[in-house]
Amino acid sequence: MAKQKTVHDKLRELGKNLWWSWQPEVTQIFREIDPNLWTDVGHNPVLLLEQYPPDVLEKRASEAVLHTRINWAYRRWQEYMEATDTWGATHAGVLGHRPTAYFSAEFGVHESLPIYSGGLGVLAGDHLKSASDLGIPLVAVGLFYGQGYFQQYLDENGWQQETYTDLKISKLPIEPALSRDGKPVMISVDTRGGKIHARTWRINVGRIPLYLLDTDVPENRDEDRHLTSRLYGGDQRTRIRQEIILGIGGVRALAALGIIPGVIHMNEGHSAFAGLEVIRQRMKEDELSFDEALRETAAMSAFTTHTPVPAGHDRFNAELIEEHLGPQRDELGLRHDSLMSLGRVEPQNQQESFCMTVLAFKLCRRANAVSGLHGVVSRRMWANLWPWRSEEEIPIGHITNGIHVPTWLAAQIRTLYDRVLPLNWYVRTGEPEVWAPVEHLSPGELWETHQTLKSRLITYARNRLIKQARRRDVPETVLAQLSTALDPRVLTIGFARRFAPYKRADLIFRDVDLIGKLMTNPDRPIQFVFAGKSHPADEPGKSILQKIYKLSQQEPFRGKLVFLEDYDINLARHLVQGVDDWLNNPRRPLEASGTSGQKVVLNGVLNCSILDGWWAEAYDGSNGFAIGTGHTHVNQDIQDERDAKSLAAVLENEVIPLFYERDQDDLPQAWIKRMKRAVRTLGWRFNADRMVMDYVSKTYVPAAGGLSCSMDDVV
Ligand SMILES: *Cc1c(COP(=O)(O)O)cnc(C)c1O
Repeated sequence: MAKQKTVHDKLRELGKNLWWSWQPEVTQIFREIDPNLWTDVGHNPVLLLEQYPPDVLEKRASEAVLHTRINWAYRRWQEYMEATDTWGATHAGVLGHRPTAYFSAEFGVHESLPIYSGGLGVLAGDHLKSASDLGIPLVAVGLFYGQGYFQQYLDENGWQQETYTDLKISKLPIEPALSRDGKPVMISVDTRGGKIHARTWRINVGRIPLYLLDTDVPENRDEDRHLTSRLYGGDQRTRIRQEIILGIGGVRALAALGIIPGVIHMNEGHSAFAGLEVIRQRMKEDELSFDEALRETAAMSAFTTHTPVPAGHDRFNAELIEEHLGPQRDELGLRHDSLMSLGRVEPQNQQESFCMTVLAFKLCRRANAVSGLHGVVSRRMWANLWPWRSEEEIPIGHITNGIHVPTWLAAQIRTLYDRVLPLNWYVRTGEPEVWAPVEHLSPGELWETHQTLKSRLITYARNRLIKQARRRDVPETVLAQLSTALDPRVLTIGFARRFAPYKRADLIFRDVDLIGKLMTNPDRPIQFVFAGKSHPADEPGKSILQKIYKLSQQEPFRGKLVFLEDYDINLARHLVQGVDDWLNNPRRPLEASGTSGQKVVLNGVLNCSILDGWWAEAYDGSNGFAIGTGHTHVNQDIQDERDAKSLAAVLENEVIPLFYERDQDDLPQAWIKRMKRAVRTLGWRFNADRMVMDYVSKTYVPAAGGLSCSMDDVV
């Protein structure tokens, strides 16, 4: 008889598949083993278990009465991994033996794996989780950043400082990816200056394998060993070297693993070189000409664009391209200029540099933006790629982003839903009917639950504030004040995202006196929690951050406006579950979609947002609040001024009165009604199951079948 698995065996297995991270019950088991250690190890079960030898763990599990729950979790995980009756089994069968290969420069799966910088990465992580839940045949390819992104702290002037720590492979749920004959997969990519080598790691995200390439190997020169150290670090040269590893190296790694993708999905342009490698393989294996191979590669490839600002797209000059793609183009049989023209809007324009987004459009027959409005903007922005077409006929569609419900929904709210929604609502989140019964939730209960989550956020925020202040050596009197920062009875507004200037984190402070008055109104005060990182090279972004920090240190804002450092998925979860209202005020139309506002919906938090990105197609007049009317102005300053005024007006005339209008039980009935309306009208649409289902039916299945579509003449 096989030896029975111990508690330690089971927990180790669970901890090595990130499936646990979207199962509140399993997360809770890890926490209960040792709550303080769980916090100290950054919610990393591998590290937690390292501190618990099998016998000690056994004892601890008995003490905490965890055995039954561990067995139950383990069995559920096995059932999950073995399930055959998934949505994907019926809807994505064609991908069965030839999966979709999903390429992305960043993946935000969990805070313990910090290889993401913001929304793009978190979206990619959510995509994998939903693909796993739905049983979609999909493999993912990215880079392993040995130092991740960066940790943020502010100095005494509120200026962002970055620190980097080495991620330790042995302390992550990661293992070498093995080829069919059991060997670790190494790949290399040739440049004019020599080869760059990379090894391949594997991370399990439920049923989805995530392969990460890592150039920190002895075969490389020193410079290249650090190539994949940091996400979005370094200069253009670093960038293109990372991108040939991701794209060309990624396709080679899949081949070495014995995986033949049926669909190539490029999440943003960083991975577009993948197409050039698929073409090379087709030419070699099937003796196709470049043009034939390109046509066939395009037929099976899809591209999702995320950036509505021209400056946000990777561009490389001719020398960088020749140095790094030279050997590849030799094999493709292309002249330098023909390769360059694949990355140019005007193929013959010698002045034009090489744009990864343009390459992606030319190598993928299917292309989409990430919201309806972003679709319009993208068709206009790239119209010159198809000069013979009218704007409406530009072949860029849209699939609006969504968020992974189990990752972002508070367990306490989920329990409420379990009572009123259909039995299996959890696996049917994309269906509108499923959400209708939220109307039956008891208003009092919903409000109490929300208050609990809000109190938890405030406690958490105070602790973080004290920790932050300690590092800056502030006097004890100030520390004491921080332990009473934020008031659980006060309308609490959250704002957290990357501090890119177009997101205008400081918009609300354009009129400091006015906002000060609103915040200190004794009858109906408001308070703010801010968080977010600036890219290390983004000085304007850092100035905005500094401005907010400085305000937070002075009257009348002290204790009512707080900035929490080092925004990550964990902090995001606390915020989207605990605030009353979520503020989003980008400069329209620069927010392609935005997803943090989607995370708050099912938690009963109301959005207050500019009509940009997803909100432009979500707001219906009674499921949240809109800032402005969706107009833009050519003059940026005028647009900012108008939006700031609208924002203040919406707060003063709509948000604040609704929140403070209470019945005899102190319940804000009208506000609660709006919470329910938001859940009912938005929950089913803006979730990642619906998004992945859309990708499967609109993109993956047609591409895998080699079905042509209206984009035939893209290439
Ligand atoms: C969801 C999320 C984002 C994206 O936020 P936007 O509002 O879409 O910009 C960024 N960072 C983290 C950590 C997130 O969880």
